[in-house]
Amino acid sequence: MKEYGVKRVLMGRLKTGDDLLLSLETVLNEARITMGSLTLVGALRSATVGYYDQNKRQYQEIKYSKHLEILSGVGNISRKDGKLMVHCHVTLGDSEGRAFGGHLMPGTEVFACEYTVFEFDGPVLERRFDHETGLALWQLS
Ligand code: ZN
Repeated sequence: MKEYGVKRVLMGRLKTGDDLLLSLETVLNEARITMGSLTLVGALRSATVGYYDQNKRQYQEIKYSKHLEILSGVGNISRKDGKLMVHCHVTLGDSEGRAFGGHLMPGTEVFACEYTVFEFDGPVLERRFDHETGLALWQLS
């Protein structure tokens, strides 16, 4: 575990038609954020999320070609291969009030999205390949 202080809190919104994950990365890169966390609420025109198959050790892609609510989006911001990486999970809702979601992937089109970003002060966490899980995880030691 590492300890952090909150340096800044940024609030904003993405544009209609933006790719949710890619536009978040652009906003965070422009704000020069290297460590932090974020929350999202809003609505989508379509979504692409991942489900990590622990046996196959790969993401299974799930596409939704319909309008959805972002009931909740939570994520963290750190580094992978020296670059910013946003790891975000979303809970989505449909017109029947059903909820589902997954690991946010490119291919998710924003209808409206408000974000709150908490920038942290402290050691930068770098992701590296973890042999036990097959995932790029934080190196804490
Ligand atoms: Zn994930």
